[in-house]
Amino acid sequence: MTRMRMAVIGVGHLGQHHARILSQLPDVELVGVVDPNPEQAAAVAHRLGTQAFSSHAPLLDTVDAVSIVTPTVYHHAVAAEFLRCGVPVLVEKPICRTVAEANDLIALAEVAGVPLQVGHIERFNPAFEDLARRPLTPLFIEAERHGPYTGRSTDIGAVLDLMIHDIDLLLSLVGSPVTHVHAVGAPVFGGHEDMVNARLEFESGCVAHITASRITVKPKRRLRVWAAEGYAGIDFVSRKLILVQQSEELRRAGLRVEQMDAAAKTRLKDEVFGRYLETLYVDGDRKWDQLTAELRHFVDCVRTGQRPRVSGEDGRDALALAERIVESVRTHKWDGQANGPVGLGQIPRPAGWLFPPNTQRRDAA
Ligand code: NAD
Repeated sequence: MTRMRMAVIGVGHLGQHHARILSQLPDVELVGVVDPNPEQAAAVAHRLGTQAFSSHAPLLDTVDAVSIVTPTVYHHAVAAEFLRCGVPVLVEKPICRTVAEANDLIALAEVAGVPLQVGHIERFNPAFEDLARRPLTPLFIEAERHGPYTGRSTDIGAVLDLMIHDIDLLLSLVGSPVTHVHAVGAPVFGGHEDMVNARLEFESGCVAHITASRITVKPKRRLRVWAAEGYAGIDFVSRKLILVQQSEELRRAGLRVEQMDAAAKTRLKDEVFGRYLETLYVDGDRKWDQLTAELRHFVDCVRTGQRPRVSGEDGRDALALAERIVESVRTHKWDGQANGPVGLGQIPRPAGWLFPPNTQRRDAA
């Protein structure tokens, strides 16, 4: 099999891992890495035994596929150039800055007849993959994504930086249009929201609460789904899935607690988990690395022409919903008054100190 000639455009924090993994895939030849920061490009290229470039222009006609891991503001311009040359593109999330830019990339990929994949990596998390294979009719969902401040991705807010992962997961799980969005958010360091909470209502009747924060001490990435079939909980960090469902007996006969005698009611406490509710623990931790799985999938799509699991349209739909959330944050009325304070710029002033300044303790949560 001829090896696929690939390049990574942007080899900062994440791009260097794309490059490392691609350099290790047996059916891929990493022909170069691109970064306007010459030291960064040279260091990564040296480590991986490939060539460093300061611009992607020399690669436009020489590669079979690219992975684009630049800051989001450059996604559209770089991806569009490759797609115009008929080169398949994997572009990191969020697909672009605006839905209009995303639609442009989708159209260019369509004209070129090549795959356009978006890097919503959690779709390749073993715990989520396992859940996505099971029958699920979500009724309500909670998603939390909390991470420490990294100083990166400051060109976007927490919705496009973090929450967009869960937005994509929700859209793929619920499979129904979102009818109502209400969100609140606040900046802590800069002009964009650093923490945000949104309530989404779907046409199917499902309701989701999602929270993202990029200024949290302990990372937490969690999804909990209450569904007609039972409960599913994912910890994306440990890559574990917990499933709870009614037992056959409970589904068939139900449970009439009010008709039980005292002894049966006492037994019930011990029988809830076991006789009536069954639990399955799935440990995805040692199964596979999701970035490798995502890149492998892209390479397979380029070879076979199959539609990527996370297509340009999926990336665009996640971005469109993210834009609605950002707009809701921007127009949120803090005191409910027509002329009252709104949005990120006018959050209520602090009423005082939570604790005396300069007395912080290291054991604070
Ligand atoms: P980063 O700032 O660490 O790296 C970006 C790199 O791109 C830098 O080295 C920069 O010099 C380079 N660059 C800038 N303009 C370029 C251009 N025109 N051509 C080539 N290189 C260019 O940022 P990062 O954290 O690696 O994030 C990069 C992208 O990956 C962002 O879109 C971000 O949203 C996404 N990301 C995705 C995940 C995920 O979980 N899927 C995680 C982190 C970041």
